[in-house]
Amino acid sequence: MADDLLLDVEELDVDYLGEHRNARACDKVSFTLHRGEILGVAGESASGKSTLLNALMRLQRPPAVIAGGAVRYHREDGTVVDLARVTEQRIRPLRWVDLSIVMQSAMACLNPVLRLGAQFDDVLVAHEPRLSAGQRRARAVELLEMVGITGDAVTKYPHELSGGMRQRSLIALAMACDPELVVMDEPTTAVDVVMQRQILEQILQLQEERGFAIIFVTHDLSLLLEMADRIAIMYAGRLVEVADGEDLVDGGLHPYAEGLRSAFPSVTGPQRTFTGIPGSPPNLLDLPPGCPFAPRCTLREDICDQVDPPLEHLGGGRLVACHVRSREAEERKAS
Ligand code: ATP
Ligand code: MG
Repeated sequence: MADDLLLDVEELDVDYLGEHRNARACDKVSFTLHRGEILGVAGESASGKSTLLNALMRLQRPPAVIAGGAVRYHREDGTVVDLARVTEQRIRPLRWVDLSIVMQSAMACLNPVLRLGAQFDDVLVAHEPRLSAGQRRARAVELLEMVGITGDAVTKYPHELSGGMRQRSLIALAMACDPELVVMDEPTTAVDVVMQRQILEQILQLQEERGFAIIFVTHDLSLLLEMADRIAIMYAGRLVEVADGEDLVDGGLHPYAEGLRSAFPSVTGPQRTFTGIPGSPPNLLDLPPGCPFAPRCTLREDICDQVDPPLEHLGGGRLVACHVRSREAEERKAS
């Protein structure tokens, strides 16, 4: 559904500028996102997930720079804004109203010297100036209650709230202006498993009621298999596979995706042995010449050491960057 397109990311490159050499932490990342869709992004630590999310929102901080590519945001009125290139002046009105972000560290994102209500006021005064003080307060209470926090929290300072409550407050704040897209960077890793479940259920419920799209980053693939419509797997700054959650449950085509999948237990699936992935991710300043995953890949062939595989479209929205796809290799072995 092309008219449902919300975000069209094309060959996005993000570099961390160094004194001698730059590290490319996002390398030709391309994907699309439709209205109301939940896209999960998974990958080991340092695969570039946060770098990607921040760059999509144009919130990358020095020494990170967007070195190339486009992030086309399709507004409801039919206009298209390239978030990678527009001026800060043009992107500012889109923040909170169209695009909002929930960062991993709630304490770092909330202002420690402002009561929660005042933090909602800051956003609402800037972006919904027609609301009266009473209406702003009512909106803040309503949003907090939606994420399971009683309304009297508006009078509290962040340090008076538990870690889970702070994280939920950030989620509520991200919803303050009914955005079209909410990106979330590991919003639940700082809380316990029970709280994590509750927060996720609330996010999904809000998403269903309000219809916003989500890009959800985590290193926990099993979580994404439960909640995301599509999943993108990152490795060394690249997308190595993008697939529907249902397809990925049956097996990753990229050996890294398959390794990640088999490293997590499935609640509903059959019992299986966990294989994991031996070795560790490469240094971005010293990448191997071919496929960056080749040194860890048990299926690797000669070509993998020489040619970096491009991200291929396999139809049905599935993308994979691999010369030797795991399922094909299994079939070859079996025949
Ligand atoms: P995690 O799961 O640990 O949050 P991530 O997938 O979010 O990891 P990023 O934080 O995006 O990974 O980092 C991607 C790469 O960029 C890493 O190799 C990291 O070392 C590098 N990087 C991140 N921040 C900087 C920085 N300020 N300067 C230089 N390199 C950086
Ligand atoms: Mg991160």
